Amino acid sequence: MKILVINTGSSSIKYQLFDMEKQKAVVNGLAEKIGEKTSILTHKLIDNQGNGKKKIEEGRLANHAEGLERIVELLVDPEFGAIRDKSEISAVGHRVVHGGEAFQESIIINEKVLAAVKKNIPLAPLHNPPNLTGIEVAQNIFPDVPHVGVFDTSFHQTIPRRAYLYAVPYSLYEKQRVRRYGFHGTSHAYVAEEAAAYLKRPIEELKLITIHLGNGASMAAVKNGRCIDTSMGLTPLEGLVMGTRCGDVDPALPYFMARNLNMTIDEIDKTLNKQSGLKGLCGDNDMRNVEEKAVSGDELSALALEIYSYRIKKYIGAYYASLGHLDAIIFTAGIGENSPLIRGMCCEGLDSLGISVDACKNKEPRKDIREISPPNSQIKVLVIPTNEEKKIAMETERIVKRNGCGQTGRK
Ligand code: AMP
Repeated sequence: MKILVINTGSSSIKYQLFDMEKQKAVVNGLAEKIGEKTSILTHKLIDNQGNGKKKIEEGRLANHAEGLERIVELLVDPEFGAIRDKSEISAVGHRVVHGGEAFQESIIINEKVLAAVKKNIPLAPLHNPPNLTGIEVAQNIFPDVPHVGVFDTSFHQTIPRRAYLYAVPYSLYEKQRVRRYGFHGTSHAYVAEEAAAYLKRPIEELKLITIHLGNGASMAAVKNGRCIDTSMGLTPLEGLVMGTRCGDVDPALPYFMARNLNMTIDEIDKTLNKQSGLKGLCGDNDMRNVEEKAVSGDELSALALEIYSYRIKKYIGAYYASLGHLDAIIFTAGIGENSPLIRGMCCEGLDSLGISVDACKNKEPRKDIREISPPNSQIKVLVIPTNEEKKIAMETERIVKRNGCGQTGRK
């Protein structure tokens, strides 16, 4: 079965074509600057050894429909494509950021689903509208195959009320659905399952803390395969220190800024979402640069690293307490997979909790799933590469098969 996975942003389409028999992507690419004077389409055909044959095109893609049409032409291109005809694609999996409370799991997209995703626009005004555009455009190009929505929020829908409700007037929840939703669910779910497979134990008996550290960052407490808490909230602003987002602050901060600095709501939003986090603390949101500057003696960069890892450490303690037991901690995403320094700092001083990192294993520059805790540790510290697109493809296949659609994706 071939599955096309699409992640649509306001001016971009990220895509991967998966061969589910091989369990891997055979094509990936990104169309960016859609709607601008010059759009860029980077397309890569991946061979069996994982090597890519790249094609970069520059030219105007007026809208998402033009973008996806060109992508499909490349998918069937004799030199750069992986299929002869678009009818070989059995289903399309869509990343949808906010499913609100409507979706506990992935689902075949129909009119009712589209209406519910639209209803969630106030909760994700920057993400859900382009996700909807992507679905509409793809449904026009692939009208005969199932389209599956995979939501960033679904994995966190098992969180109990005591963890998802804020202590604000209950009517805000009842009328506006103000609550913790959590994001990066596809990544947390994927690495939790990979951890269970690596540990050769059923996920139903594992207590895990998953730590997704990319430009955005979040953590989740996963008990017996179900998420019981996560650090992002109503929006992705809450929780950990991120590249440009502040994470947890005193909720009084916005009105302090409004009253004392005369800032508007939009200015405050921009400051906390785009000018805070690592960038706000030391002027750079790229962790590689922050680490480099800290090593060469820049005090603010060193402080930013301390604040960043201290926040993670606090959440490790909190989630350990919530879970009541811990089998493994999993680091994933750009920073989690590649920064021994941050992994080490987050776990430093936790030996008495049974959590420690072996300095040599931690530094090994590997790309595969690995254990960085000392041998015989009861609590394993693992590094697991995330693959959200693969998880979307797997979810799409599962839902399509469950709905009785055959190899072709059609009923
Ligand atoms: P992501 O959003 O998952 O692509 O992650 C992006 C973040 O990963 C950026 O802050 C990068 O600086 C960081 N990153 C990537 N490679 C490394 C590395 N080798 N060491 C430290 N941080 C890295």
